[in-house]
Amino acid sequence: MLAGNGAIKRLASRYGMRRSGSFARRFIAGESVGEAVEAAREIERQGLMVTLDLLGESVASAEEAGRATRAYLDTMAAIASAGVGRNISLKLTQLGLDVDRATTIDNLRRILDAATSGGFFVRIDMENSPYTDQTLDTFETLWNIGYRNVGVVIQSYLRRSERDVQRMNDLGARVRLVKGAYREPREAAFQQKEDVDAAFVRLLQVLLKQGTYPAIATHDPAMIEATRTFADANGIGKDKFEFQMLYGIRRDLQASLSAEGFRFRVYVPFGKEWFPYFMRRLGERPANVGFVVRSLMSER
Ligand SMILES: Cc1cc2nc3c(=O)[nH]c(=O)nc-3n(C[C@H](O)[C@H](O)[C@H](O)COP(=O)(O)OP(=O)(O)OC[C@H]3O[C@@H](n4cnc5c(N)ncnc54)[C@H](O)[C@@H]3O)c2cc1C
Repeated sequence: MLAGNGAIKRLASRYGMRRSGSFARRFIAGESVGEAVEAAREIERQGLMVTLDLLGESVASAEEAGRATRAYLDTMAAIASAGVGRNISLKLTQLGLDVDRATTIDNLRRILDAATSGGFFVRIDMENSPYTDQTLDTFETLWNIGYRNVGVVIQSYLRRSERDVQRMNDLGARVRLVKGAYREPREAAFQQKEDVDAAFVRLLQVLLKQGTYPAIATHDPAMIEATRTFADANGIGKDKFEFQMLYGIRRDLQASLSAEGFRFRVYVPFGKEWFPYFMRRLGERPANVGFVVRSLMSER
């Protein structure tokens, strides 16, 4: 509800990133690639890996999608010259999925070609359920052309995900497993946390057993415990998967898992289009809304 409110968006956009202590900086590394690279360096100093996400989604024209593609190519050049981890995450609606699929594939190929020559891995984030089929089909098209430095995301809240995990495992593709961040209709997605969690555990087991270097992306200690227990019981080594968390969330767990020798990657979002991402993070934990309101008062 708040995400659709124009006044909130204007206020948040004006104050959210203004100073080093402004509230949106808790979840977003900054508006520039320079700030993202700095954040990545700091994370890597602690022994963790990164994936950088240039925020943006739902672009409405081929020109905008072209601009986003060029911005990604510039980001990759900046990452390469800074010497931080060569791993990026992107959204297909940022590259033109709402415009047409051919444009999206062209844009994605430009990024994947640069990624191949620069030694990058590209993760295609998963958006809401109207895009699931198109995202997986686009991924598979590129996989069939021969791109291997690319992976997808599967959401445990979707009822269909067991089939999708199987499909990706059959290809040998790398999957990041998440619970899912969008409001979805009952027909498409489980609505109760216990059902989403139970599906997450089922899917992580299939991925650990049959998948290709899966990423288990969650801040939920119960899901992390389920991953560790299953890996231990089945002799799956710590180098066969990685944990992932979002920038600014559960830094305590990030540090302790990495100290235990688990491979760990932090998702570092940055860029001017941070509002929808920021609002999804607030929606996941309404307690954060109080923190933002208090910060807004003090900023004004
Ligand atoms: C690396 C990464 C990539 C992702 N990519 C995608 C994607 O492509 N598509 C997609 O739909 N979703 C994506 N997500 C988001 C995901 O779907 C969930 O919405 C999000 O991770 C919250 O679920 P959870 O597994 O942490 O469990 P939850 O049950 O939501 O939370 C468990 C615990 O984590 C902590 N926590 C969770 N969220 C917050 C928060 N915002 N602020 C403070 N504490 C919090 C709390 O302690 C909470 O009790 C991604 C998540 C990660 C970590």
